[in-house]
Amino acid sequence: MQVKNIAIMGAGLVGSLLSMYLKKHGYQVTVYERRPDFRKTGNYGGRSINLAISERGWKGLQGVGLEQAVRDIAIPMPGRMVHDVQGNLMFQPYGKPGEAINSVSRGGLNILMIDAAEEAGVTYKFNQRINEINPAGTAASMEDMETGTTYTLEPDLIIGADGAYSLVRYAMLKTDRFDYSQAYENHGYKELTIPAGPNGTFLIDRDALHIWPRKQFMLIALPNIDGSFTCTLFFALEGRESFEAIKTHADLDAFFDTYFPDVKPLMPTLHEDFFGNPTGLLMIVKCFPWSHGNTMLIGDAAHAIIPFYGQGMNCGFEDCTVLNDLIEEFNHDWSKIIPAYQVARKPNSDAIADLAKLNFIEMRDLVADADFQFKKRIAAKVAAAYPDKFIPVYSMVSFSHLPYADALREYYRQDEVLSEVLTWPGVREHWDTELLPDIAQRLFNL
Ligand SMILES: Cc1cc2nc3c(=O)[nH]c(=O)nc-3n(C[C@H](O)[C@H](O)[C@H](O)COP(=O)(O)OP(=O)(O)OC[C@H]3O[C@@H](n4cnc5c(N)ncnc54)[C@H](O)[C@@H]3O)c2cc1C
Repeated sequence: MQVKNIAIMGAGLVGSLLSMYLKKHGYQVTVYERRPDFRKTGNYGGRSINLAISERGWKGLQGVGLEQAVRDIAIPMPGRMVHDVQGNLMFQPYGKPGEAINSVSRGGLNILMIDAAEEAGVTYKFNQRINEINPAGTAASMEDMETGTTYTLEPDLIIGADGAYSLVRYAMLKTDRFDYSQAYENHGYKELTIPAGPNGTFLIDRDALHIWPRKQFMLIALPNIDGSFTCTLFFALEGRESFEAIKTHADLDAFFDTYFPDVKPLMPTLHEDFFGNPTGLLMIVKCFPWSHGNTMLIGDAAHAIIPFYGQGMNCGFEDCTVLNDLIEEFNHDWSKIIPAYQVARKPNSDAIADLAKLNFIEMRDLVADADFQFKKRIAAKVAAAYPDKFIPVYSMVSFSHLPYADALREYYRQDEVLSEVLTWPGVREHWDTELLPDIAQRLFNL
C-alpha cells in the first residue's frame, strides 16, 4: 500500500491533531470539513463549550509542539468540589498534589490546532462534506456545501475523523463482517451558564470541577478563563423528573429550588439557557474493524463514549500518538500499521467506554455516598503512603499512559478489595493507623 496523499474527513479535535502528525511524517495531508471555517464565522457551534484535558491529551499535543500553547489557555482543576443539597462543600482531590485535569475551551483549542496545522503545511477545505465511500473503500463521494457540487476523491488513504455520527463509519456498516453497536443513554444533557462576577471574578471556586450529585441526575461546572463557568445538567430525557417533565418556568424554578438552591442565584440566564439550548443526546458506539480498503477510522468515529470520565478527546489523541509510533515502527508500511493500530486501540477504547459508564454512576450517585467516600479516602491514603506500589484507578486513567484496559481491570479488583476491607472489624477507627499496612498488603496482593 503506497501512501503519499491522505484525506482526513473532519477538522475536529482528533482530525486536526492527526493531520499534524501525518504532516510531520512527510505526507500530503488535506482535511475536509463539512462546516464553514469557524475562525471566520465566529460560530463554533457543536457540543460542550469546554472540556477537560488530562495526561493522554497533553502527550498528543506535546508531540506536535502545542502543549504549552494549550496550557496557556487552560485552567487546572486539581479536584472535585462536591455541593450537597444543603450547600455544604467537600473538596476531593483527583490525584497527588500537583496533579490536575484542565478545563479548556473546545472552540479555542480547535482553532489553535487548525492554525498550527495550516502553518505546518496541512491544507484545510471547509464546507466540504463526505457523503459516501465506495464499496471497495478506495474513493470518497464529496459535496461542496456552498455550491452543491459533488465530486469524487481517490487519495491513497482516507481517514474518517468525522465524529460520533461518522458517515465514513456508516459506509463500513455495509461491508461484510463489520461488527457494530450503538446505544443511547436514557440521560441527555443541557448547557447552562454561571457568568463571571464583577471584573471577571469567579463566583465559585475556580480551581475545581464542581459537581452537584443528586442520585438520578447531576449538574457539573467547569471554569472558563473569562471568569464564567459552563455548567452541564445531565438529566433523564423522560420520566417524572426529566427534561420532558420541565415544561414551564415555574417547573424549572421549583426543580432548581429543590435540588440546586445554592447555584440558582448564580444563573441569571437559567430560563433562557434551559429553554433555548438544545438537549444533547449521549451515545456509545463500538465497532470493528476500524478499516476497510484504503479507509480507516479514528477518534469518536471509531469509538464514541459518554463523557463522564472526560476522556473522549483524550482517548482520540492517544489514538494519534499510537498511530504515530506505529508509522515509525513499521517504517510507513500501512499494510502493517493499520491492522496493528486497530488491534492495539480496540480493547482500550472499549475499556474507557465501560469506565465512563461506571464513572457516571460514581459522579451522580456515589460521590455523596459515605462508603464510597470512605473507600476513596483509603485509596488516597494508601497511594500517598506507597506511591511506588499503588495507583488509584482515576489516576491510571487521567494521570498516566497505562492502557485503559488495565485501568478497567484494576477498577474491579480495587473495588472488590476495598469493599471487603470495609467489613473488617475496627476498620473505621483504625484504617489510617495500625490497619493501613494490612490494607495496603491486601491491595497489592490479591
Ligand atoms: C457533553 C460532552 C462533554 C465532553 N467532555 C469531554 C472532556 O471533558 N474531555 C474529553 O476528553 N472529551 C470530552 N468529550 C468528548 C469529546 O467531545 C470527543 O471525544 C471529541 O470531540 C472527539 O473528537 P473527534 O475529532 O473524533 O470528533 P468531533 O470533535 O465530533 O469532530 C468531528 C468533525 O467532523 C466533522 N464532520 C462530521 N461529519 C462530517 C462529514 N460528513 N464530512 C465532513 N466533516 C464532517 C464535524 O463537523 C466535526 O468538525 C465530551 C463530549 C460531550 C458530548
